[in-house]
Amino acid sequence: MYIAIDIGGTNMRIALVDISGGETIVKLESHRVPQDYSIGIEKLSGYISTLSKGQNIQGVGACFPGIIDKNGMVSTANNLPDWAMKPIKETLQERFSVPVKLVHDAQGAAIGEALFGAGKGYDRFVYFIWGTGIGASDVKKIDEKQYFMFSFENGHHIMDWDGKQCNCGQKGCPEAYLGGDMLCEYFGSDMEDISDDDPRWDFVVQKAAQVVLNTLIFHPVDLFIFSGGVINRRPFLLDRIRPIMQQRLEMFPIPEMVLAQKGDQSALFGCAGSFLIDLV
Ligand SMILES: [Zn+2]
Repeated sequence: MYIAIDIGGTNMRIALVDISGGETIVKLESHRVPQDYSIGIEKLSGYISTLSKGQNIQGVGACFPGIIDKNGMVSTANNLPDWAMKPIKETLQERFSVPVKLVHDAQGAAIGEALFGAGKGYDRFVYFIWGTGIGASDVKKIDEKQYFMFSFENGHHIMDWDGKQCNCGQKGCPEAYLGGDMLCEYFGSDMEDISDDDPRWDFVVQKAAQVVLNTLIFHPVDLFIFSGGVINRRPFLLDRIRPIMQQRLEMFPIPEMVLAQKGDQSALFGCAGSFLIDLV
């Protein structure tokens, strides 16, 4: 049994996960994340204690929305700045006397899909996040135990020199057009209020097809797994992106394009699954 922790910018989910023969979330809780690290780590420890009661815990795996250095330390955390450069891993290791792993949130979700979801059985795939932000990981299975994961900023490759201003400071990035908040701005209302046959989606799918196609050119794989708030809420977009790619792409065959099988639980399964593999 493992404890899996998916820390987001506002909420954290803590689960008791069983990956011994199949994979099951036995218990799941959601709490707000305190901005203050000392309060946060105390609360987190309390939640772990409650969930672990009477269980044989083999490890605690956590996903964090920030850059994790090679020693398992959060070096940058834009949404939770007070958690950066704090001994999260060491503290949990000391308190619970079990191995603790800390991974970047997108990598955690990609591990979940690689081991238990849509990526199972594939040697290589691109895990593509399309939510508030856009980003991706190229996931390569070396053998049963070793995986190579390369995350990259395809949401900020410049598609148009004089394009729309992006939050990163550049102009013409995919995220400036397709990020969740940017879509709200484009439609002038929440995406939920827009019907699937609204003609304004045409521009969105043209831009999205361009990003997916360009990502494929640099990462020619057979499978793209999509995840994130925008694509999960509007999966019809995938069906509209495919024909545009078919029309434009000559270099490679169109990859299989699917949604993450474990949905918003990929990261929780990935946190537990991170104990089964080594990232090299
Ligand atoms: Zn940008």
